[in-house]
Amino acid sequence: MNKTASFPQTIDELGAGGKSALARALAAIEHSPDDPAVIDLLDKAWQKPHGHVLGLTGPPGVGKSTLISTMISSWRKAGKTVGVIAVDPSSRKTGGALLGDRTRLVTDPEDEGIFVRSMAARERLGGLAGLTVPAMILMRAVYDIVLVETVGVGQSETDVASVADTVVFCIQPGSGDSLQFMKAGIMEVPHIMVVTKADMGAKADRAKADVAGALGLTEDGHGGWQVPVLKLSASSGEGIEELVTAVSDHADWLYRTGELERERQKQGQIWLETMIREKYGTEGLKKASGQLTLAEGQSPFSRGREIFSLM
Ligand code: GDP
Repeated sequence: MNKTASFPQTIDELGAGGKSALARALAAIEHSPDDPAVIDLLDKAWQKPHGHVLGLTGPPGVGKSTLISTMISSWRKAGKTVGVIAVDPSSRKTGGALLGDRTRLVTDPEDEGIFVRSMAARERLGGLAGLTVPAMILMRAVYDIVLVETVGVGQSETDVASVADTVVFCIQPGSGDSLQFMKAGIMEVPHIMVVTKADMGAKADRAKADVAGALGLTEDGHGGWQVPVLKLSASSGEGIEELVTAVSDHADWLYRTGELERERQKQGQIWLETMIREKYGTEGLKKASGQLTLAEGQSPFSRGREIFSLM
């Protein structure tokens, strides 16, 4: 049987078809990424963004899965639909040992308002899989919130900024993460900082103060957005609503200032380059350098195919 048969052709069909329609569309992207009907669907989804994309990153064991489960409950109670993409860093090199005692996301399979998809990060440890961007684009067209979870290992945290509107970094109390974070020079990336496991008491307070101090040393990288440093406990529920509010405040700010459109345009440009690099390598990217333009509102998917045809 053709696995990609009868995937939705329009965003209305995608929305109306529920989780199975989305699963079929994702399978089509995976198996026939060059099918014109697949590109057409991605173009349509790109032109019709509906939801807000939240990127959540942090080291293994910091409490991301636990936090995500708690946030999903909060959003679902508020009537919001949620799509989750969990980028799994298990690779040939580590055999998945990074995941440690990771809690698996548990959601109600009967709930049509929540869709969870795990993806293996391909080459770059903690980086984003090739399917992540197209999947995010489809989910963004139909769900109110799209959450992309990545495991931050070194510099890879920055990858999440190329798919998310709002980036949340998680820091574990007593781990020295805040120091790592300063050293790595990635402080410009997050829009919201979260110290997890607030129930650990003084250690959590200390981590929060460290992070706030580190942020105070940076130039303002977000054009006027003040990065909040929050402390929360997914176990006790403390601070969860503050995070949900901070995400929604940042979404409002992006919309009000016009940053949302600018950022998404920039992301499109990055994906266009990534597509060309993945297919033709760095040499190909050089060759196409005069073509790598994306007109305002133009979808990087069809533009990518235009460039492919010229190569
Ligand atoms: P992930 O690897 O970042 O997804 O982290 P997990 O969500 O799997 O959590 C790692 C460990 O931390 C698990 O043993 C959780 O039970 C524990 N944990 C998660 N959230 C909290 C919290 O708020 N407080 C405490 N004390 N432990 C937590």
